[in-house]
Amino acid sequence: MSDPREAVADVLRGLAETLRHHRDLGVSEIALTHDPFPDPADALRAQEQALQGCPRCKLSRSRSTVVFGSGNPRARLMVNGEGPGEEEDKQGKPFVGRAGQLLTRMLASVGFDRERDCYIANVVKCRPERNRNPEPDEVAACNPFLMAQIDTIQPPVILALGNFAVQTLLGTKEGISKLRGRTYMYRTGVLVPTFHPAFLLRNPGQEFKRMAWDDLKLARREYERLTSTTTPHPDPLP
Ligand code: SF4
Repeated sequence: MSDPREAVADVLRGLAETLRHHRDLGVSEIALTHDPFPDPADALRAQEQALQGCPRCKLSRSRSTVVFGSGNPRARLMVNGEGPGEEEDKQGKPFVGRAGQLLTRMLASVGFDRERDCYIANVVKCRPERNRNPEPDEVAACNPFLMAQIDTIQPPVILALGNFAVQTLLGTKEGISKLRGRTYMYRTGVLVPTFHPAFLLRNPGQEFKRMAWDDLKLARREYERLTSTTTPHPDPLP
């Protein structure tokens, strides 16, 4: 982007969207006295707090815990899954069961440390009973929260896991096998679709593993390409 006015306009557009999401989430106060750009860790904390006890959809009846998200608020890679499972619902963290352990290894295989380099969240924050797919009204109710997370973190690269997350984020009904293998422009960066680790556990064949490995390498290349030209969130003042 060569025109600095365009860069400033982009930042302001992002800020306006984040503030709109905060308003929709019921966050009534953001300290603007010193820094007009809220620290992403503070912004995510405020969003998480605003979600406690959320009654906005019927998944509130099947959950024990709202699983907001976890990881580095300044991450340049965001990982998006479908929704919490049984273990995640118990612990209040995304991807902590068997699929989560595989995800950690998948990320590490291309040099990403899960805690240091990534922020992980799901399309819906509450566990659907018997791990059924979330329904359209539930996704619609929860969508502003995921969008607020994305607009706060502004990740150059999003790794979207599985049919459900990819279809929801890209607004398509096309299956993951057709969608994977390439990147898509998405908000402030690119989206890389790949298989959900739970699917890979159910289908341990080499073919899916190889495709997932290709997708992860693609995500890594995009990460290198985009983080060498984008300014990371500045560290907060001491
Ligand atoms: S899934 Fe999202 S919208 Fe529904 S109750 Fe949980 S936090 Fe609220």
